[in-house]
Amino acid sequence: MCADIKRGLIITIDGPAGAGKSTVGRHLAQRLSYIYLDTGALYRAVAFKVLQEGISPESEDDISELCGKIKVHLENRQGGLRVFVDEQDVTENLRTEQIGLLASRVSAISVVRKFLLPVQQGMGAKGRIVAEGRDMGTVVFPDADVKFFLDAGLGERIRRRYEELARAGKKGDYPKVERDLIKRDSQDRERSVAPLKIPDNAVIIDSTNISVSEVVEKMMSVIMDYDRFCVRR
Ligand code: C5P
Repeated sequence: MCADIKRGLIITIDGPAGAGKSTVGRHLAQRLSYIYLDTGALYRAVAFKVLQEGISPESEDDISELCGKIKVHLENRQGGLRVFVDEQDVTENLRTEQIGLLASRVSAISVVRKFLLPVQQGMGAKGRIVAEGRDMGTVVFPDADVKFFLDAGLGERIRRRYEELARAGKKGDYPKVERDLIKRDSQDRERSVAPLKIPDNAVIIDSTNISVSEVVEKMMSVIMDYDRFCVRR
């Protein structure tokens, strides 16, 4: 199905934690010379601020008040994507399991989702974007041109998350990484607002046994087909 395109393409990648969305999204955006939008980083930035301010994750009122006070934005820089809360660059504080779990909790609060919606849609207004997260093709960019759902087996996702933490010098113990990932999966899939699910018309890719570059090639061929058939020049 072709949309009436008056902007550059919007490509979305949804999927659970550890499926490889960030790595694949970054590579794909690079191949296409598009903006890369890591929406998880926005939820992590709010979680970081909740932690820094000593706010209870139970207190929706305090979190709503926080959202009324802060500005969160992303900048695509030479060395990669940087995340800012107000003027503070918080990028280096976000990739821990503690922040991941807290992000998963605060992201279930509808005020937080409403707060971050215009930030995400603003970045995609002109298209030429690869956006990855949990509700890209369902809520944030329901009219995206090409939608992917990237998945992988649970064991493989746990292994990848464990190695990612080890590479970042934050080696956790394996059973804890497993417990945290399973908990995050169920929070993300079962929440009432914007739960993780496969968007209509999404192309599903299982990355369990294929490399990053193979996933990117598969995506490129879907995008090229779309471009050939749908984009008028
Ligand atoms: O993708 P990442 O692990 O950085 O995301 C952290 C958390 O943020 C996820 O577990 C999820 O709960 C939340 N998130 C979300 N919607 C998005 C992106 C992330 O709810 N679009």
